[in-house]
Amino acid sequence: MTRPLSTRTQNIAASLTVAIDTLAKQMIAEGKDVVSLGAGEPDFPTPEPIQEAACKAIHDGKTRYTAPVGILEVRKAVCEKLEHDNDLHFTPEQIVMTSGAKHAVFNALAVLINPGDEVIIPAPYWVTYPELVKWLGGTPVFVQGSRENDFKITAEQLRSACTEKTKAILVNNPCNPTGSVYSRDELESLAKVIVEKDIYCISDEVYEYFVYNGKFMSAAALDGMAERTIVINGFSKSHCMTGWRIGYDAAPLPIAKVIGKIQGQATHHPSNVAQYAALGALQMGMHSVNRMRDTFKKRRDYMIERTSKILKTPAKTPEGAFYLFAPVNDFYGKKTPSGEVITGSIDLCRYLLEQEGLAIVPGAAFGDDSCVRFSYAASDETLQKACDRFESGLKLLCST
Ligand code: GLU
Repeated sequence: MTRPLSTRTQNIAASLTVAIDTLAKQMIAEGKDVVSLGAGEPDFPTPEPIQEAACKAIHDGKTRYTAPVGILEVRKAVCEKLEHDNDLHFTPEQIVMTSGAKHAVFNALAVLINPGDEVIIPAPYWVTYPELVKWLGGTPVFVQGSRENDFKITAEQLRSACTEKTKAILVNNPCNPTGSVYSRDELESLAKVIVEKDIYCISDEVYEYFVYNGKFMSAAALDGMAERTIVINGFSKSHCMTGWRIGYDAAPLPIAKVIGKIQGQATHHPSNVAQYAALGALQMGMHSVNRMRDTFKKRRDYMIERTSKILKTPAKTPEGAFYLFAPVNDFYGKKTPSGEVITGSIDLCRYLLEQEGLAIVPGAAFGDDSCVRFSYAASDETLQKACDRFESGLKLLCST
């Protein structure tokens, strides 16, 4: 074929988190000794009540098409969850069930972006955000959260990043990869600018239950925000359902209607069985989620303790999510045992994978080449092995 493929897709990078996870799983399947803290994927099984809800759905014949927006029962249950947990008042017509939170982010952007529109993305950011914005013809505008401010952006920074072309801000709170969490006051000051500048907010809240101090606050709950915010959430992280691919958009009604229309053309709807599984998740109570949060907190503390002895500049203690974003730039310029110079986070991660069989994600994927990301949603034994390998790999690097 000589006809060119879409130019828009040629400018899109593949997801590095997904690529590393795929590579690590492939190496393990080939019998290689690889420890992977690459993808953020809880190591626990999907809780029993969810499995049972899915099996029952299959036996009850819930295997046919649903409405594009999803089944009414689960959308009602999502509304109850948003009311109860987040003080948000949605009706089922405002909820669109999606094939995971990533798909919900795509839907939100697809509804908002015209070619040339700017979308503000606080950096460090989740790898997928800028690529989706570009794919849809928009321009990502990065606002750097400083390390001193726990990688969070300020209202002043947001104000000065807004232009005539700004359509929305896309924020992940708690944040993947930094683990930072915006407090109520910080969110309020950002919300004032969002309202003043009359832009939309896409608030990806997929890690909301993994906040280690204090309470999570949804951006949509603040004054003037409900009518301009699309809340993104999903079950992959909170209910160990990564492979089920189930999440949702909760949006102002006119936006939800368009998302439903797009979805009706693109995918029709997420899996009927997965929707019933999500209903099971929403009905099972918070016990297993809370237990998982407590476990992740212990693992976070372990990672901080171990890496602070290995790194020259210690990592910030993450307040939420399950990632450690660790500064490794002190090791740049050093040589590997085979004589290659480490020039950045991609080199370092490649070296650690080849030399030590440790899979972690380069900070470059998240817009900060000085760091690497560890997922600590892994067993204690895996974390211990990962830290041993990290330490051993860094010790082998010598000054040039
Ligand atoms: N969200 C997870 C991560 O950042 C899973 C992989 C992905 O979709 O990026 O590792």
